[in-house]
Amino acid sequence: MNLPDQISHLWTQALGLIAKVVSPDWGSLIGLLPFFLLIGVIGPLITILALLWVYYFVRRPRTKVRFVEGPRQALLAADGLPVFPPGEPYDIRSGLIYPPGTTQNDAGEVLSVTCPMCAIARFADVTTCHNCGLVLKVDRRVAVRTMQPAGPPPGGAAAA
Ligand SMILES: [Zn+2]
Repeated sequence: MNLPDQISHLWTQALGLIAKVVSPDWGSLIGLLPFFLLIGVIGPLITILALLWVYYFVRRPRTKVRFVEGPRQALLAADGLPVFPPGEPYDIRSGLIYPPGTTQNDAGEVLSVTCPMCAIARFADVTTCHNCGLVLKVDRRVAVRTMQPAGPPPGGAAAA
C-alpha cells in the first residue's frame, strides 16, 4: 500500500465517522422524545411547583402563630384608664386588645373599636364609621404584619 492509498483509506474512515455524528439515528431519538420532554419541561415545572408549595407552607404557619397569641392587655394611662390603639378591637371591660379583624371576645360579646380617623368608638363588627364614614376593613394577614411592632401608642401615657 502506497502513501496516497493510505491517505484515501483514512479519509474514507473519517467520512464514515463524520456521517455517524452528523446524521444520528433519528428513529431512536424521536423514541426518546417523551423522555427529553419529561426531563426538560415537566421536571423543572414540578420543581417550581414544589418550591412554591414549600414557600407557601413555610410562610403560612408564621401568620397563624401570631393569631394564636390572642388578646393582649391594654396599657394604662396615668389616670388608670386603659389606652386602646385606634383601629384595633378591644374589650372595654377586661381591658384586652384583640388582634385586628376580631369582632367578639371569648364570651361572644361584641368588641369595640376606635376609629383611626375621628377617634369615635363603635362596635367592632361595624366596618364603616358612622361619624366620618371611614371604612375599616382589615385584611388579617396584612394587619398582623404591619402591627407587629406593637409598642405603646405614641403619647398615650403623656396625653393624660
Ligand atoms: Zn370615624
